[in-house]
Amino acid sequence: MKAFIRYTAAVTACAAVFSLSGCGQTFFRRFLREEMRRPFSASSEVSSEEPVTENYQSPYNGELGSAGSLKGRTMIVSIYADDALTSWDSDSDEDSMMKLDTLDNLRISTEFLTQQAERYGSSTEFIWNWELNPDLCFTARFEESLVTEYGDMYHVQENWINENVDTEALKNRYRADNVIYLFFFNTDFSNQVNPWYLGYSCSPDYYIEFCNIYVRFDDCFVSKPSTYAHEMMHCFGAHDLYYANEFIPSSYVDHCESTFSNDIMYTVVDSKEITNDFSELDAYYVGLIDECADVRQWNLAPSEHIID
Ligand SMILES: [Zn+2]
Repeated sequence: MKAFIRYTAAVTACAAVFSLSGCGQTFFRRFLREEMRRPFSASSEVSSEEPVTENYQSPYNGELGSAGSLKGRTMIVSIYADDALTSWDSDSDEDSMMKLDTLDNLRISTEFLTQQAERYGSSTEFIWNWELNPDLCFTARFEESLVTEYGDMYHVQENWINENVDTEALKNRYRADNVIYLFFFNTDFSNQVNPWYLGYSCSPDYYIEFCNIYVRFDDCFVSKPSTYAHEMMHCFGAHDLYYANEFIPSSYVDHCESTFSNDIMYTVVDSKEITNDFSELDAYYVGLIDECADVRQWNLAPSEHIID
């Protein structure tokens, strides 16, 4: 029987993000020390999935953060980060295996999202494989502790991205419409902070949308593909359904609970296979459809994709 994970820790995290969204941008800057290194692993079969195009113009203008709707080509930038309390050891077989596990989870989660988009007639493609495209893989070192429920580290990670990732060049190279940044932290099981997301739906000032994947958490869990998909769906506009928030009233949360919802924004599964539902409501919030009956019936917030 599959275990189901509810993101209780992330509730605190999101609340903290909302309350901190107006805070000063330089809070953590003086502690920042960044470092770029070569990707830890690269296949000899290095190739880009598309030829370099010098003047590619993305049809998406970034008005909803670095990722808009679940359409077109989405580039995933993977960043393996060391912080004050966690690190990746390039000489460790266990750490190397965990990195390959994260890559496999990226494959499964992006396949899932691509299939769901196709159900709604959307052609979408993810560029995620840093073994084939090593310029999509980075390592970073931070002096702060970034495994935290609080959102005040947003600008630390935002600054690192701005200073170390030439996003426009990568977007041109891969002809990407959307960009998602994934930070991977090599946490052990003692970590009680669940993976989570920061981006446009936390604050319209958060142009860069990233997910913090804590690879181990809550005593026994290793982050699985449904968690990756859940977090990435936030970047496209999906909202959590497991707690009341400014988008989702408590009545709908109760409805999900009473109907044993398997919606991926309500619960995730602890298995390699993603057996969660990608609901019509999810399709609505990630910009695949313009209307959803649940929004009217339960007085849910309108999708960011249909608001001027
Ligand atoms: Zn979430």
